[in-house]
Amino acid sequence: MEQVLITGAAGFLGSHLCERFLDEGYRVIGMDNLITGNLTNIEHLMLNENFVFSNHDVSDFVNVPGELKYILHFASPASPIDYLKIPIQTLKVGSLGTHNLLGLAKAKNARIIVASTSEVYGDPTVHPQPEEYWGNVNPVGPRGVYDEAKRFQEAITMAYHNFHGVETRIVRIFNTYGPRMRLNDGRVLPAFIGQALRGESLTVFGDGSQTRSFCYVDDLVEGIYRLLLSDYTQPMNIGNPDEITIGDFAEEIIKLTNTDQKVIYEDLPVNDPKQRQPDITKAKNILGWEPKVNRSEGLKITYDFFKSLSSEELYKTEHNDFTDYIKK
Ligand code: UDP
Repeated sequence: MEQVLITGAAGFLGSHLCERFLDEGYRVIGMDNLITGNLTNIEHLMLNENFVFSNHDVSDFVNVPGELKYILHFASPASPIDYLKIPIQTLKVGSLGTHNLLGLAKAKNARIIVASTSEVYGDPTVHPQPEEYWGNVNPVGPRGVYDEAKRFQEAITMAYHNFHGVETRIVRIFNTYGPRMRLNDGRVLPAFIGQALRGESLTVFGDGSQTRSFCYVDDLVEGIYRLLLSDYTQPMNIGNPDEITIGDFAEEIIKLTNTDQKVIYEDLPVNDPKQRQPDITKAKNILGWEPKVNRSEGLKITYDFFKSLSSEELYKTEHNDFTDYIKK
């Protein structure tokens, strides 16, 4: 049985990827340090004899027993609130963590795909964003720790490909949603749905004219799977080009949840990108991939997930407690 290592396995995307690779017949080692991930996301996999969980921080030397066919590096804080709270760890997992996993890929002769992000485009001046666009990133702004870690990640991945001949793939992931997002990570979709479920007003940051384009998780996983199996070694955008303003998105969530919550306006975070939409021409032409799940279908499934959470979860206001982790 071929073996796959997935880092960030207890996170939102990682847990869905673990399921997909188990379904494809691989033995999966799921690695996570559980700082933003949650074991409940993968507890249903623990009884699967082809799944092994490893509690490890990939910023430290990584080793796993046996051969590896693929490595999927998806460990990283990924919401603005998280990377503001643990900026140094965010930089480390994108840089040192990626370096460790590229070294492991080289040693095991494994193919590696790294999770990059639309944040490499920063607050983009080109719209929609094609892969050729180099971006508009403030390296010392609050998002710099994430954006520059991911930009470094792309650079070192290409260097291992060109210099050591490691088989590498780079996926630039745009805003994605679905079951197992963290309710309290500050991202707009769980924030709005959580507020609607608690009967609170929805907090739109700025005037709500900024745009995002949301991709349902199953579509994203399919795109990642196809990219990994393809021969394409340059970065590739995977996301849904269906763009919406955050103000209109708030209205959609109010309709979806069948509530009559009000919208209140709060300050726009510093360097919050004004617009974001993936150009997916390459994914269409090279992978034959495009998203299949439209927003109303995807939102319904996601809403059902959030509705099923306990009221303790729903009313938990604090974000993850990073105190012990930060001391390390
Ligand atoms: N946002 C908002 N209200 C919230 C949380 C986020 O209006 O309660 C906005 C945020 O300013 C941004 C957009 O929604 O313009 C998407 O934010 P998110 O943190 O989900 O992702 P990112 O900015 O990384 O795309």
